[in-house]
Amino acid sequence: MQWETVIGLEVHVQLATRSKIFSGASTAFGAEPNTQACAVDLGLPGVLPVLNEQAVAMAVQFGLAVHAEIPEVSVFDRKNYFYPDLPKGYQTSQMYHPIVGPGEVEITLDDNTTKRIRIHHAHLEEDAGKSLHEDFHGMTGIDLNRAGTPLLEIVSEPDMRNAKEAAAYLKAIHSIVTYLGISDGNMAEGSMRCDVNVSVRPKGQEAFGTRAEIKNVNSFRFVERAIAFEVERQIELIEDGGKVVQETRLFDPERDETRSMRTKEEANDYRYFPCPDLLPVVLDQAYLDHLRSQLPELPADKRARFQTSLGLSAYDAHVLSASREMAEFFEEVHRVCGDAKQAANWVQGELSGALNRDNLTIQNSPVSAHQLGELISRVLDDTINGKAAKQVFQALWNGQGSSANEIIEAKGLKQVTDTGAIESMIDQVIAESPAQVAQYRDSEPEKRGKMIGYFVGQVMKASRGTANPQQVNGLLKEKLDALL
Ligand code: ADP
Ligand code: MG
Repeated sequence: MQWETVIGLEVHVQLATRSKIFSGASTAFGAEPNTQACAVDLGLPGVLPVLNEQAVAMAVQFGLAVHAEIPEVSVFDRKNYFYPDLPKGYQTSQMYHPIVGPGEVEITLDDNTTKRIRIHHAHLEEDAGKSLHEDFHGMTGIDLNRAGTPLLEIVSEPDMRNAKEAAAYLKAIHSIVTYLGISDGNMAEGSMRCDVNVSVRPKGQEAFGTRAEIKNVNSFRFVERAIAFEVERQIELIEDGGKVVQETRLFDPERDETRSMRTKEEANDYRYFPCPDLLPVVLDQAYLDHLRSQLPELPADKRARFQTSLGLSAYDAHVLSASREMAEFFEEVHRVCGDAKQAANWVQGELSGALNRDNLTIQNSPVSAHQLGELISRVLDDTINGKAAKQVFQALWNGQGSSANEIIEAKGLKQVTDTGAIESMIDQVIAESPAQVAQYRDSEPEKRGKMIGYFVGQVMKASRGTANPQQVNGLLKEKLDALL
């Protein structure tokens, strides 16, 4: 039996407001427990929430970025449940009239094709506090710093068909919210978490199978692993004659498995009702137009522009537009050197390799975009060859000079294009390599091309890497063939 996987994601994005969604308390990460929870966050009697306008603007910006309908009116509801980290006894959320309606996101697959994933809606809500089990013996501590932090929950349609697509979708969301600057997207600090809904169905069947929801998966890698485990579990269960039950499961990264948390029968009844303390949010056209005019160029548009007007491949365009910092760096390199393909190659090759090796992000690159652009310019105008360029790059990386020009000068890396100088180096190499010359002469003509590599290497070495390789090749062939 052939099975097909169906996946839908609910992504929680922490919005980068400085204060909470309904109070003036700070949202800064890492403070001492309970130093950033005010009377509103604590749910003390007699206090009233005041909606943070910035959170509204950020949610709408996201909606505009995913081409969503933005309803004129949205409403906050109370989601009632009892838990120690929820002092009010309810979470203020949006159930029936969310701030962002249906939209769509473009994801890039491994073969560089794209696919559209529909967004069902996105709604605003507040985060709860945090239970601390480790630091207390026989007790649980509660830290309410996080209570009231603004979240945007983005709910997808069940449009994904494998773990890779789900990870690509999460990356696309991450890229959009960080381009917009509405979230820091820091998954390790919990700024982005997701619930993964997974079901399987026989290939060709239209009706969806019963799904399990895996809670709080907090890395791209865990999303893939949780899905892989869950799909296998469900298929095995069904093939053994069992049935998938609708339930909430937890992913355990240590054991690489999902475990049941609660089944549908035990699911909470949240008794949603409109929050009487908050007015409906009404957005007029002028406000939406204003926010639309402030949108930056988004990843999908950048990707398209990199391909159509800069002539980059789909792969290059995708990699270079995935993060805003990467895109800005690349565009600056391109602006300085004027050659998009070379800029793309250097950013993805030499630069990314060095960043990975030294465990640095592009924001902390020791070689600036301007410096790299100038270095590439010196290759393009034939001042240096490719080999010397790598040396110059390493020197810039190590802080041995402040510009490519300075390093080229100091290290004497200027390319030798003087035919006479190259010829005399060739003559010397040929004179010092009688055995190789004899071998060359005795080879089949079609094998000589390959053998010429030895001589090129020797001449390049003699020039300390500065000879123009094309000239060396051409002149060597002439001189060796003259000996035949
Ligand atoms: P609930 O309100 O109970 O959480 P929803 O219908 O709103 O359920 O769906 C929540 C998420 O589950 C959505 O992202 C949706 O795409 C996904 N989903 C719904 N049905 C399925 C299914 N059969 N298989 C996989 N994902 C599903
Ligand atoms: Mg849900």
